[in-house]
Amino acid sequence: WKNLPPTLRHTLQVGRTHGDKIYLVHEDERVSFEAFYRAVTVFAAELEAKGVRKGDRVALIMRNLPEWPVAFYAGLSIGAIITPLNAWWTGPELEYGLVDSGASVAIMDVERFERLAEHFDNCPDLQRVYVSRSREDIAHPYVTRLESVIGCPNDWIKLEERPLSTVELGPEDDATIFYTSGTTGKPKGALATHRAVNSNIFAAAAASARSFLRRGEAPPQPDPSLPQKGALISVPFFHATGCFAVMNPSLFGGAKMAMIRKWDPEKAMQLIQDEKLTQMGGVPTIAWQIIEHPSRDKYDLSSLEAVAYGGAPSAPELVRKIKEIWPKSSPGNGWGMTETSATATSNSAEDYEGRPESCGPAVPVTDLKIMTLEAPYEELPIGSVGELWCKGPQVVKGYWNKPEATAQTFIDGWVRTGDLARLDEEGFCYIIDRAKDMLIRGGENIYCIEVENVLYDHPAVMDAALVGVEHKTLGEEPAAVVTLKPGASATEDELRAFVADRLAAFKVPVKVIFWPETLPRNANGKILKTELKKVFVTG
Ligand code: ATP
Ligand code: MG
Repeated sequence: WKNLPPTLRHTLQVGRTHGDKIYLVHEDERVSFEAFYRAVTVFAAELEAKGVRKGDRVALIMRNLPEWPVAFYAGLSIGAIITPLNAWWTGPELEYGLVDSGASVAIMDVERFERLAEHFDNCPDLQRVYVSRSREDIAHPYVTRLESVIGCPNDWIKLEERPLSTVELGPEDDATIFYTSGTTGKPKGALATHRAVNSNIFAAAAASARSFLRRGEAPPQPDPSLPQKGALISVPFFHATGCFAVMNPSLFGGAKMAMIRKWDPEKAMQLIQDEKLTQMGGVPTIAWQIIEHPSRDKYDLSSLEAVAYGGAPSAPELVRKIKEIWPKSSPGNGWGMTETSATATSNSAEDYEGRPESCGPAVPVTDLKIMTLEAPYEELPIGSVGELWCKGPQVVKGYWNKPEATAQTFIDGWVRTGDLARLDEEGFCYIIDRAKDMLIRGGENIYCIEVENVLYDHPAVMDAALVGVEHKTLGEEPAAVVTLKPGASATEDELRAFVADRLAAFKVPVKVIFWPETLPRNANGKILKTELKKVFVTG
């Protein structure tokens, strides 16, 4: 990994060499690599002129828009720490992010500005705000319209390039604070270095080559006469995967990125067809939504070469489906977390077809081990289930402002992932569940996902989650929350009997609650079990 671009400023310079090829596509806006580079340098010069210095936090609060990567690279190229906040957060949640990170500058779209403006006074460090997509000028003492500095995306090519900042920057310098998804508690800011972020470029390249290398064959050489690669962006940039695993490798490798204003499978298929996209990613649900879409046959999706996903458990069945629909494509499953700056394992192509339950071995120069759940932590032998620990260039330095959580989670360069997993002899990793998603009922382990998968097999069930409910003597008992498919019906007893026919009695939910709509999820599409548990506490 010493040969990786040392900083994101270098990655930006590599990106520029792709010239007038298209990098960003958003509705009727198309931005070439050259236009992108110019906008970045102009905005970087603006930030530097306004006094932003190395180590200052610059918050980025917007949906996926072309100005997101511009602001990201502009801040990073002058040594600022980019702090993306979740655009779906409410005003008070965004205020928490701004105060927690101590951001002095915030760049946001007009929707976020409307949500946040009344909170500015509660953010003592905030000195300057840039707002994009506002139709009119905003009268506010420290607010500037972003377009008054860089113009609109289709005009970025007309900007005059500014020299890059000469501030000293190295691979170990702080680059980003991304917040975790908040699936198991309050989101934590993970502080990553330039090297940690850039290591995804390596991971992306290795993922496509490894299946060949394992068979002792040379991976196919990139053929310059082939059409440009392109990715459909279905996940928000403010989560590590969208930004690190797609946005940066695309800039480095000269691939196009097509974004959608609001996720819609039909629009996604239209984009894949029109832009001849070669790659689709995101959480597994995204792939399922396209695979099962009633109008899928209306679109020509034959350009897809890779359908890769991660971020949440995926059914082995998905691999078979992808091969059935796109025989020439490679399915892929990667595991990672905000604390590993996105990708830390990846499984793809023939490797994945042969082991559809696995998220693959670690990416190069990364180690995995399986440890006991409790201190004193000890390594467990191959094949046992325990907590997955991970070490590599992508592991972040720790949590911003949270020394205690940092000390508990980051030990000797390893990150304790909180996931239960096992490794096989060849180093392939199998995620069993989150440690927090395992209940112990009177000494018997219940992996929520196992019971959830049985519930999903019931023809009437659309959505299912298993949670632990406190019990005096047994400690915890399993209970299920279920959403039925429209028009379908099933009773509590029927569902319990369905599980009882397939799993040991101690795994059968003692209670099933029917949820009227889809289960509450965070922006990454993960079910918020903390919300569901409340139902059982309050009855
Ligand atoms: P928080 O840490 O705030 O509770 P979170 O863990 O959901 O939220 P992320 O960092 O976005 O925040 O998600 C990482 C988690 O996602 C992993 O710990 C793991 O549980 C899950 N995950 C990621 N990739 C996969 C995968 N390929 N298969 C199964 N689970 C995955
Ligand atoms: Mg987590």
